[in-house]
Amino acid sequence: MKVGFLGLGQMGHGMATNLIKAGHQVTVYNRSPSKAADLVAQGAIQARTPAEACDVQAVISMLADDTAIEDVVFGEHGIIAALPRSAIHISCSTISVAMSEKLTAAHAQAGQRFVAAPVFGRPDAAAAAKLFMAVAGDETAVKDCGPLFDAISQRSFVLGTTPSTANLVKLSGNFLIASVIESLGEAMALVGKGGVDLHAYLDLLTSTLFSAPVYKTYGGLIAGGKFEPAGFAAPLGQKDIRLTLAAAETLQVPMPLASLLRDRFLTLLAQGGEHLDWSAIGKLAAKDSGQT
Ligand code: NAP
Repeated sequence: MKVGFLGLGQMGHGMATNLIKAGHQVTVYNRSPSKAADLVAQGAIQARTPAEACDVQAVISMLADDTAIEDVVFGEHGIIAALPRSAIHISCSTISVAMSEKLTAAHAQAGQRFVAAPVFGRPDAAAAAKLFMAVAGDETAVKDCGPLFDAISQRSFVLGTTPSTANLVKLSGNFLIASVIESLGEAMALVGKGGVDLHAYLDLLTSTLFSAPVYKTYGGLIAGGKFEPAGFAAPLGQKDIRLTLAAAETLQVPMPLASLLRDRFLTLLAQGGEHLDWSAIGKLAAKDSGQT
C-alpha cells in the first residue's frame, strides 16, 4: 500500500521500518527531520511537512501526545486539509478519548476515515513487529488496514466501530501496568530492606503465580534499578495516568488507585526524573524507606 508515517520517535521508527520491510511504499515525516535519514536509506520517501505525506491510501500517526496530534493534524500543513477523500488516518499514539472523538468528527467531515489503533509493547517490540494493537473504527476501514497491521504487530484486537473505544482500552491498560509497577516497587522495597536478593525474589514470583510478561519486564527493571535510557519516558507515563483520570471523570468512575499513581509520577518528575523510564516510580518506595 502507499502509506504515510508521521512520528519517528522510539516507537514510530521501528514501526515505519517494518512497513518498508513488508514492501509498502512509505513516506515518512518527523518534526526533527534527521530521524528520517536511515529510513530514506532503506527506501522511504521523506516529507518536509505532514501534508506532504498524504498522497497515500492511509497515513499512520505515532506521536507523543494530544498537542503533537493537534499540530500535525490541524496545524499549518496539517493532514486534515491534505488527505484524499476516503483515505484513512490510523492513530497509534496514546491520546485522550476526547481527542479521538475530535479526530473522528473532523475526518468524517472531510470525507476521510479514522481508525484508532493504539499499541501495547515497548520500543523493542515495535522494532520486532511484535506489538499488540487495540483497534476500533468503521468495519471496512479496519479491514482495509489489515496489511498494515500485519506488518507492525503480532496481533490486532478489534474492539468496536467507535474509535475512542480503543483509546479508552489503551489508557486502562497503561493504568494497570503502572499499578503493577507501583505494587512491585512496594513489595521489593519491603523484601529488599528485609535483606532478600531482589533478583532471586523476582525469579520466585515470575516462576510461580506472577508469570505474566508485565511482571517479568518491569520486575527486572526495578530489581536492576536501570531506568536509563528510557524505553517509555516518565512524562509520557504521567500523561497516560492524567488521561485515564480525565476519562474517569467524564464517565464518573472513581479510580482511587489512579489518583495515587498521579501523585507518584508528580513525585518522580519533581525529583528530576523526566529523563527516566516510567518504571522509575517503582523505586520511590525503596527511597521512602531509606534505601538508596
Ligand atoms: P518519543 O520517542 O518521545 O517520540 C515522540 C514523537 O512525537 C517524535 O517523533 C516527536 O518528534 C513527535 N512530536 C512530539 N511533539 C510534537 C509536535 N508538537 N509536533 C510534531 N511532532 C511532535 O515517544 P514514543 O515512545 O515513540 O511514543 C509515541 C507514542 O506511543 C506516545 O503516545 C506514547 O504514549 C505511545 N506509546 C509508547 C510506548 C513506549 O514504550 N515508548 C509504548 C506504547 C505506546 P521529534 O522527534 O521532533 O521530537
